[in-house]
Amino acid sequence: MAYDSDNVFAQILRGEIPCDRVYEDDHVLAFNDIHPQAPTHVLAVPKEAYTSMEDFTQNASDATISALFRAVGQIARDLGLAETGYRILANTGDDGGQEVPHLHIHIFGGRLLGPMLSKGA
Ligand code: AMP
Repeated sequence: MAYDSDNVFAQILRGEIPCDRVYEDDHVLAFNDIHPQAPTHVLAVPKEAYTSMEDFTQNASDATISALFRAVGQIARDLGLAETGYRILANTGDDGGQEVPHLHIHIFGGRLLGPMLSKGA
C-alpha cells in the first residue's frame, strides 16, 4: 500500500492539526488518543512515513525501529505505567482493524486491562 500523506497522523506530524502531545524526540511523536479506551491511551508514531508494522519492519532502519521502541518504554515510564503495567498494540492491515494508515503503537494503562482480545465471531 502506498503511503497516503493526507492521513490524520501525517497532518498532526506536519502541525496542520493539533494533538495533545505527551512526548517528542527526533524520531517519535506521542499524543493522547482522541477516543481513549483506558485511563491512559497514548499513540506513539514514528516521524518517518510508514503505513504499518508491515512497512516499518521491512523498510525502516534499525536505528529508527530501535528509537520507536525505546520511546514507547520511556513514555510508559514517564506516564507512571511501568510499575502497574500496561499494554502495547499495533493494529496492522484489514484483519488487524487498522484505521489510520501511518504506523502507530497504542499504549494502554491505568486500569486492569482484561482479556487480550474480544471474542470475535
Ligand atoms: P487504529 O484502529 O489502530 O488505526 O487506531 C487509530 C486510533 O487513532 C484510534 O484509537 C482513534 O481514536 C485515534 N485517532 C484518530 N484521529 C485522532 C486524532 N486526531 N488525534 C488523536 N487520536 C486520533
